[in-house]
This record gives sequence, structure tokens and C-alpha cells, in this order.
Amino acid sequence: MYDIIIVGAGPAGLSAAIYGQRAGKKTAVFESYSYGGQIVNTPEIENYPAIKKISGFDYATALYEQASELGAEVIFDKVESVSVKDGSESTDGKLFEVKTLGGVYEAKAVILATGAKNRHLGVDREEALTGRGVSYCATCDGAFYKGKDVAVNGGGNTALEDAMFLTNYCNKVYVIHRRDEFRGEKETLLALQKKDNVEFVLNSNVVKLLGEDRLSGIEVRNKLTEEVREINVDCLFVAIGQEPDNQAFKDVAELDKAGYIISGESCTTKTPGLFTAGDCRTKQVRQLVTAASDGAVAALAACSYVDML
Ligand SMILES: Cc1cc2nc3c(=O)[nH]c(=O)nc-3n(C[C@H](O)[C@H](O)[C@H](O)COP(=O)(O)OP(=O)(O)OC[C@H]3O[C@@H](n4cnc5c(N)ncnc54)[C@H](O)[C@@H]3O)c2cc1C
Repeated sequence: MYDIIIVGAGPAGLSAAIYGQRAGKKTAVFESYSYGGQIVNTPEIENYPAIKKISGFDYATALYEQASELGAEVIFDKVESVSVKDGSESTDGKLFEVKTLGGVYEAKAVILATGAKNRHLGVDREEALTGRGVSYCATCDGAFYKGKDVAVNGGGNTALEDAMFLTNYCNKVYVIHRRDEFRGEKETLLALQKKDNVEFVLNSNVVKLLGEDRLSGIEVRNKLTEEVREINVDCLFVAIGQEPDNQAFKDVAELDKAGYIISGESCTTKTPGLFTAGDCRTKQVRQLVTAASDGAVAALAACSYVDML
């Protein structure tokens, strides 16, 4: 039995674990994949206060080690549900039951820090070709396409940064965007426009993935002219944003239309003792610094809740 169980070992969850352990609470963090969350895939972080430059992997490892050395248990297992256990003997009769793929655990308080995942295109054979020419992480897979032609789909910062990164390795980078204006930073766009191995394909959507066992190309349809163009590429990097994965927790935490957990800066949910932190909750700014901040707020609120039981 734990004082606090945290779901997700990303920046929010591991920050919460640091605060939980330092407050003397027995804390476990469950992680379905690998520690660090989304940030492990980025080569450079330059906006975390007091750290001028660090790779995502080094940042995540330092955070993981800090939480572990303080005594937090990081358990690699997917949480499938969180429910309030009736008839428990804690003072107000409420304990949480946390079911994972591998077992059932109990906790006095729970923090959901499940983050967000890459959004998929939703075209035929996308799953089958993932890892065979369809990728969601240019910084992870870009180097495999040295000297090749590739495409990036998206219009935000991630798409622009991915395209910029790929221009260093690839022969040609097509940037496919459904609009003619980009949401991403102007500076990155300007730098990309100056590259001679970039072609912008605007007002267009990827409608088909070509190739049998591996991607050999894509078909894009221009929204204005309806014209369909075939582009031969060895990899399509999909960078069309993120979405949360909180459906398993919808009975204990209220979700908004997009699936984010409804919560304000207090990190509380509709269920007393259940808190949320990081990218998985409704918020304006989804960054490392706000994830770490949420982790601290949620953990201290969970500690106070546990102390009151
Ligand atoms: C390519 C890229 C570059 C970025 N660069 C920067 C940057 O330079 N600076 C910056 O400030 N921010 C950056 N960000 C944003 C930053 O990474 C996120 O804001 C931050 O990681 C959010 O942390 P989090 O802990 O809330 O969620 P996540 O990082 O998404 O971590 C959530 C974790 O929970 C786990 N999980 C989910 N569901 C379950 C479950 N049911 N059971 C167990 N585990 C589960 C996931 O596997 C994941 O490890 C970047 C993001 C990306 C994608």
C-alpha cells in the first residue's frame, strides 16, 4: 500500500515523485513505456530555467535518477484503471485501487500524469507502415534517412523543427501542411524557407500511403484544386499534434471534449484524493517547466490530503 501512486513517469510524474518522497510519503510511479515521457525524443532543450542546453534523454535520466535516489519506486507497468475502493479501513473510507496489467495496488492518493501522445493521420495502413517509413519522431528516426527524400506533415513548431532537423540529413524535405499559414514560430519558418532542399506543399492533406512492405511514397490532395499529387519519399514524419489518453480514468476524472482531464492550477479533480499534473490536464501551456510545476503542486496537495486522512 502506497501513500501516493503516480500514473506516468514523464516530467510531471517524476517531479511529483520528488516532492512526494521529500515529504516522507511512500510513493510509486507507474510507467507503461519508458521513463521521461515525450521529452526523451528531443535532441536539445534550451528553455528549462537554469539549464542552458541539455538533451531530452539526459534531462529525463537526471530526473529519473533524482526521483529513484530519493526512494520513489518506478514500476514499469501500464495502469488500466483507477477506482475508489469501497469499505476500506482508512478514516474516511476511501482508498484508491490501481489496476495495472500486472497487478492491483492500493494508495491513499493518486496523481494522473499520463501526458499526451502523437496524433495519427487516420489514413489506411498507417499502423502497418509505422516503423517501415511512417514515423512520429524525426529526432529518433531522421538519421536512418540520410541522403533520402522525406516528407513532414504538419504546421506547428514540432513540424517546422522536425523539417529543419531533417534538412541536415536528407536529400530533400517536403513540408506538407493543410493550410497556407504555419502556427509554428516565424523564425524557424524563415530559416526553413532559406534551405535549398525544402519544398512546401501547402493547402494539402496526405490521403494515401504507397508501398507494400515499406513506404515508397505518398499521395497528397490539394484542398483548393482537388488535384492529387504522388510524391516519392522513403519516410513520412507525422507531426500533427498530440492527444491525451485518459479514457480509462473517465469515471473518476472529468474529461473535456478533447479528452484532457478538467483541472485548474490546483491540479485537483472531481474525486477527492485524485490529482492530475502535466500535459494530460486542461491548460494553456504544455511545456517541461509547467509539467514540473504541476508535479510539485499535485504532489503537495496529495501530501496534505494524505495527512488529513
Ligand atoms: C519533440 C518534442 C520536443 C519538445 N521539446 C520541448 C522543449 O524543448 N522544452 C519544453 O519545455 N517542452 C518541450 N516539449 C514538451 C514536453 O516534452 C512536454 O510538455 C512534457 O514532456 C510533458 O510532461 P508530462 O509528464 O506531462 O507528459 P509526458 O511527457 O507525455 O509523460 C507522460 C508519461 O506517462 C506515461 N503513461 C501514459 N499513460 C499511462 C498509463 N496508463 N500507465 C502508465 N504510464 C502511462 C507515458 O508513457 C509517458 O511516459 C517537447 C515535446 C516534444 C514531443
